[in-house]
Amino acid sequence: MLGAVLHAPGDVRVEERADPAIIEPTDAVIRLSATCVCGSDLWPYRGVEKPDGPAPMGHEYVGVVEEVGADVRTIRPGQFVIGSFWASDGTCELCRAGYQSSCVHRVLMGTIGTQSQLARIPLADGTLVATPEPPPADLVPSLLAASDVLGTGWFGAVAADVGPGKTVAVVGDGAVGLCGVLAARQLGAERIIAMSRHAPRQELARAFGATDVVTERGADGVAKIKEMTGGLGAHSVIEAVGTQESMAQAIRSTRPGGHVGFVGVAHGVELPGEELFFSQVHLHGGPAPVRRFLPELVDLIWRREIDPGRVFDLTLPLAEAAEGYRAMDERRAIKVLLTP
Ligand SMILES: [Zn+2]
Repeated sequence: MLGAVLHAPGDVRVEERADPAIIEPTDAVIRLSATCVCGSDLWPYRGVEKPDGPAPMGHEYVGVVEEVGADVRTIRPGQFVIGSFWASDGTCELCRAGYQSSCVHRVLMGTIGTQSQLARIPLADGTLVATPEPPPADLVPSLLAASDVLGTGWFGAVAADVGPGKTVAVVGDGAVGLCGVLAARQLGAERIIAMSRHAPRQELARAFGATDVVTERGADGVAKIKEMTGGLGAHSVIEAVGTQESMAQAIRSTRPGGHVGFVGVAHGVELPGEELFFSQVHLHGGPAPVRRFLPELVDLIWRREIDPGRVFDLTLPLAEAAEGYRAMDERRAIKVLLTP
């Protein structure tokens, strides 16, 4: 099969990889219907994370089950399935508490690589959610978005305690931030402030439910949020970048008693204890337990109540994955869908 492999920063090649096979009796093998490039794939692509030799890429996936292991009970060949970037058993104490991304048996799908034609999915019963029937083609991008960016933005909103009557600010206008806007809308937020200086992203944020757009960032961005909230700050802030600047902006934009949901993969973030102490904000985040939300998200997409697939503004054949990475790295594309 063909799969994307990162050989060195900036060097993604689509090459022949071994076809996956059932290794554990709890595995499934799927044929991908669509896959994509994630903002987090840019960390190794830019050399911020250093891969140890050639690394298979990709952790987002939807597809049709080809084969299942002997112990798989609920997932069957022929089903169209969606899973998250952590495979999880669904049965351990942390899974049952809704923290499938910290499952005691978790497997990071990025180590398997799903920018490929086929993929092995560990812990298939716990990991995968099947659609009621094969989806119409126009729903596939939205179902793929549920695999990571929608589920992650949703967790950001839940971690930020978004709810009716609240003012929500979203730091980051990548696909996750935009899906955070969509989630805030669905969860009943009264006012949703998207922080973005890119016109096409501002437009999508408004389509997803943003009531306001703030173009300032850093201290100016914080001042603007304060000005819009009677000097108090937002009730809920979703942080969807992962840098020192974005985290500081998120915490300082939150009112005392408010909540920050941080879902941008943190790189070099250090929090000053004294500032945290006096901020009186709740901090919660980390790798999103997307699996917790998948059944509900798939249902919303199936009933066409949400359309998160709009974050894909460039579609390329898998063979052109390198161009997909370039387009996202240069911010020419919000998110790139790859067709295997
Ligand atoms: Zn578990």
